[in-house]
Amino acid sequence: MLSPKLRNFGAFPTTRTATCPSELSAADTLIIDTRPPQHPLPVRQVASGIILPEDALPPQERFAVLMDFRPIPGPTPTFHYRIPLGDGTWLLEETILAIPEPLPIDLHQQLTDMLHTRLQRLGIDSAKAIATDQVNFPLGPTHIPTDPPGTLSFGARGGYLHPATGYSIGMSLAAIDRTLDATPQNVHLKLLHFLRRCGLDVLLSLNPTPFRVFFDTFFDLPERHIFGYLHGNVAATTASMLRFITKLAAQPRNRIKREILYTTLSLGAYSPCT
Ligand SMILES: Cc1cc2nc3c(=O)[nH]c(=O)nc-3n(C[C@H](O)[C@H](O)[C@H](O)COP(=O)(O)OP(=O)(O)OC[C@H]3O[C@@H](n4cnc5c(N)ncnc54)[C@H](O)[C@@H]3O)c2cc1C
Repeated sequence: MLSPKLRNFGAFPTTRTATCPSELSAADTLIIDTRPPQHPLPVRQVASGIILPEDALPPQERFAVLMDFRPIPGPTPTFHYRIPLGDGTWLLEETILAIPEPLPIDLHQQLTDMLHTRLQRLGIDSAKAIATDQVNFPLGPTHIPTDPPGTLSFGARGGYLHPATGYSIGMSLAAIDRTLDATPQNVHLKLLHFLRRCGLDVLLSLNPTPFRVFFDTFFDLPERHIFGYLHGNVAATTASMLRFITKLAAQPRNRIKREILYTTLSLGAYSPCT
């Protein structure tokens, strides 16, 4: 459902110009720019997928899975997800969470091969595919843009896309009313972007084995800290990151955990923008 404020601005989804109600003056006009980021981060989320009718999935696999991290032989760590699309079909993807450019030319083919291996192991019949899907998008802008007066970058362009997950829908929906009130959020957004980027930089610095241990540790956090990092504000994100570090430091340490702790404390040696 559209926010009442969004509805007041007229035909939003189909045109690129919002129409102001007549009682508003030209000075109230706000151009909301939802094009892709002007300076995209040179790090992308890439996936290959297929759409299957439900009967291609054995009954025991007909449940939504957001992150199946069980390793599949391939050049880089991937995760698998499958979700029902609500019309009797399912979307199944093999995804690389974040990969720096330049991308290997045959990356989608490699992911397709990995997807088929995974589905074979799950007893899912990929020969019944009715469509294929290729994902390839930047994980947001290099920095939160400073907009000229009367313009507001929104969504992926404005840095709402979480650089460590590729998700943005929740944050964009939550920001609609604030945006239409033109309440300045830039400082908060810049801080949040910085913290989330630190997470991305840590991920990009880890080799496949520590990468998986990192996620095991992260998903072992209390739920409020998981959600705090995934869609929280600055305070919740900071609290989640500190909780992650203290959890790691308190556990019996081995070489892999030491590596993750060191990488996390140095906020990732890899920084795609510097
Ligand atoms: C398979 C898949 C599953 C996903 N699942 C989730 C999920 O569960 N939750 C979640 O939060 N996110 C998910 N995402 C990510 C989500 O789709 C993006 O975060 C979201 O689409 C970003 O929205 P946006 O409107 O800001 O940008 P976009 O969706 O990228 O929209 C940008 C628009 O600008 C248009 N455009 C491009 N160039 C120009 C131009 N020069 N002039 C005018 N218009 C232009 C494009 O055509 C496009 O319509 C998923 C992505 C994929 C691919």
